[in-house]
Amino acid sequence: MSTAPAMSRPKQGASGKTGAWRIFRPRIDKDACNACGLCALSCPDAAIGEDLEIDLEYCKGCGICAHECPKKAISMKREEK
Ligand code: SF4
Ligand code: SF4
Repeated sequence: MSTAPAMSRPKQGASGKTGAWRIFRPRIDKDACNACGLCALSCPDAAIGEDLEIDLEYCKGCGICAHECPKKAISMKREEK
C-alpha cells in the first residue's frame, strides 16, 4: 500500500494547477507585511514561497492566507475575466 506524503511541497500544490475558475486572487501589501511567513505555512496548496511570492498557477483563491495574516497585509481581489 502506498502512502501519500504528509504535506504538499512548495510549487507543486495539493490539488494541481488551478485553471481559470478562481474568483478571487490574493495580493500581498509588502509595506504592511512583516515577513512572518504565516501565510505560506497556512496555504493548503503551498502556493506561497519562502520569498512570499504567490504562485497563481496553483493558488485556489480560498482566502485562508488573508484570514491568517496577523498584519492584514493580504487582500483578496476579484479576478478580471
Ligand atoms: S488564497 Fe488560498 S490557495 Fe491562494 S495563496 Fe492564499 S491560502 Fe494559498
Ligand atoms: S502572514 Fe501577512 S505579515 Fe506574515 S508574511 Fe504573510 S503577508 Fe506578511
